[in-house]
Amino acid sequence: MSVNCVICDSEVQVEQDLSVGEILDCDECGVELEVTSQAPFAIDVFEEEEK
Ligand SMILES: [Zn+2]
Repeated sequence: MSVNCVICDSEVQVEQDLSVGEILDCDECGVELEVTSQAPFAIDVFEEEEK
C-alpha cells in the first residue's frame, strides 16, 4: 500500500504492518514521516524533540 507525503504529496510505499511510531522517508523530498495512527492509517511529519 502507499500513502501520500504530507509535504510534497508524492506516493510513499509502506508496508502493511507498520506500527505507530515508525519512521518513513519520502523519496521525493526527503522528509521523515512518522506513523501516528493505524486505523485509520495516518502519518505526520516527524520532528525530533529538542531537549
Ligand atoms: Zn515528500
